Amino acid sequence: ATKIRPLLAGNWKMNGTRASLDQIKAIADGVKAPLSEKIDTLLCPPASLLYVATALCDDSPLAIGAQDCHQQINGPHTGDISAEMIADCFGTHVIVGHSERRRNHAESDMLVRAKAEAAHAFGLTTIICIGETAYERNSGQTLDVLKRELGASVPESSTSETTVIAYEPVWAIGSGQIPTRADIEEAHAFMRDELVERFGTDGRNIRLLYGGSVNGDNAAELLAISNVNGLLVGGHSLKAVDFLAIYGAFE
Ligand code: PEP
Repeated sequence: ATKIRPLLAGNWKMNGTRASLDQIKAIADGVKAPLSEKIDTLLCPPASLLYVATALCDDSPLAIGAQDCHQQINGPHTGDISAEMIADCFGTHVIVGHSERRRNHAESDMLVRAKAEAAHAFGLTTIICIGETAYERNSGQTLDVLKRELGASVPESSTSETTVIAYEPVWAIGSGQIPTRADIEEAHAFMRDELVERFGTDGRNIRLLYGGSVNGDNAAELLAISNVNGLLVGGHSLKAVDFLAIYGAFE
């Protein structure tokens, strides 16, 4: 198999004002050769900082993306942001289907898929998030949930160029709890099989990120698990020192 180029992605969620731009600048400056030649890096600040952030990252390999987009091209959708607007701000990626969106905004797999399609139509790479709740895990439904979410949230037109999958167990997000190595390995092997079954050989190249309570201390161990092709980081992406420690773990 060809070696998959890893991706480190940060999700700032609803955090960050102009005062945080120095952190973005520090991350952009810290993401440099030689390591940046081997891995891709992405930061998703709030939409309010998108345009300024991409300007700050002009000379850095750090890519900037958004945390969500609407499924329509434009129109009467107060408060939403379109894929075109993200691309217009020079954003190159967008997260869709984060569990906080699924839960707080009742986003369905079908909606997540439509958002991903809208993003692809404007040339954005999507980070499509899936993962089981604590209840689903405790009742033995984890792989069923992953199968359903992968099948229904990932558009037919997805390729390894346009689509990244992030496995984020809902109970591991912001909790300090992480699945066992064996559980992560099982989930990622399962997702890989599902993607190969659906997309053929290109399914082997679709990047599978792990997300949930990642920090500088556990990153290297997580990256050593097979079929873990990168990390999606929430809390520890806010400060440059924390995010760059995780970046260093890709060495
Ligand atoms: C996330 O919400 O995408 C996430 C992984 O959060 P945290 O790293 O804070 O658990």
